[in-house]
Amino acid sequence: MVKFSATGKKRSSDTVITPRCYSDDDVEEDDEQVCLQSKRLKVETGESSSSSIGKQNDLSGDELITVRLDPDVLDCSICFEPLVPPVFQCNNGHICCSTCCRKMKNKCPSCSCLMGTGSSSRCLAVEKILESIRITCPYAPNGCRESFNYAEFQRHKASCMYSPCCCPVSDCNFEGSLERLSSHCNTMHRESIIQVELNSPMTISLDRDKPITILHGNNSEYVGAVYILHNNNSKSVGGCFITLTAIYPGIQEGVKYKLIAKCRDSSLQLKASIVSTKHWTGVSPSKDFLLVPHDFFDTTGLLNLNLLITWSD
Ligand SMILES: [Zn+2]
Ligand SMILES: [Zn+2]
Ligand SMILES: [Zn+2]
Ligand SMILES: [Zn+2]
Repeated sequence: MVKFSATGKKRSSDTVITPRCYSDDDVEEDDEQVCLQSKRLKVETGESSSSSIGKQNDLSGDELITVRLDPDVLDCSICFEPLVPPVFQCNNGHICCSTCCRKMKNKCPSCSCLMGTGSSSRCLAVEKILESIRITCPYAPNGCRESFNYAEFQRHKASCMYSPCCCPVSDCNFEGSLERLSSHCNTMHRESIIQVELNSPMTISLDRDKPITILHGNNSEYVGAVYILHNNNSKSVGGCFITLTAIYPGIQEGVKYKLIAKCRDSSLQLKASIVSTKHWTGVSPSKDFLLVPHDFFDTTGLLNLNLLITWSD
């Protein structure tokens, strides 16, 4: 258990939480501890093995205390979402977030006391801690220079541009930031991937029996990204389900794609937003697809598929 007591004047930049840092070679999504540095907080630990204290001095001579703590203490115990002020407590000291307090109709779910009303209301001590802490991004070693409060940190971590992405080439175990993945694909898989230029139409010769075609997008204004043209050939349906997915750490805002398959006088077209994933599992996360009948492929099983990836900010 970790106990906090605040001392000194409030300075919002005093406290820094540094989660375990991950290099590209040491990636672990579900960290169980964050590391807190503070000039303002005196920290005591109990028997819990998940807590530890270290001391150091900063340049001004103030003592810094570093604590590893279970980040669950910064979550609402009812909905498990990160606590953000206002935080409410009952007369017995149970706390919860404002959303849960409202949903529980101001009744503490642990002891049924009133909370968020009358003499039992805000838990200012916890609010002070939440307002003062700053957490540096765990992907700082990959280049991210941002820091956040705890609630922002949880949102950022899921979509940080520097969080690692996995190489989609089968039997390749590389994972790294998007920038490193991009140069990895360019150097290690140059022969087997197709270069695409964003905002320029191109034609891909698609083999009916080839499930994965890997594309690499380069654009001077845009970080190179890796795309997967997924072709799910269904013999029972008599056609191929084709979709495009990006290997990308967040949502690719404003990135869309268009697929056109032609056969004699007929043509089929799909316009869709690109869905991204950091780790290709073999199944497209997108619900959009172009179903191309086997008749569209020539006698050798090839199809000229027109692809256009567009990006507008
Ligand atoms: Zn809650
Ligand atoms: Zn209670
Ligand atoms: Zn980050
Ligand atoms: Zn690779």
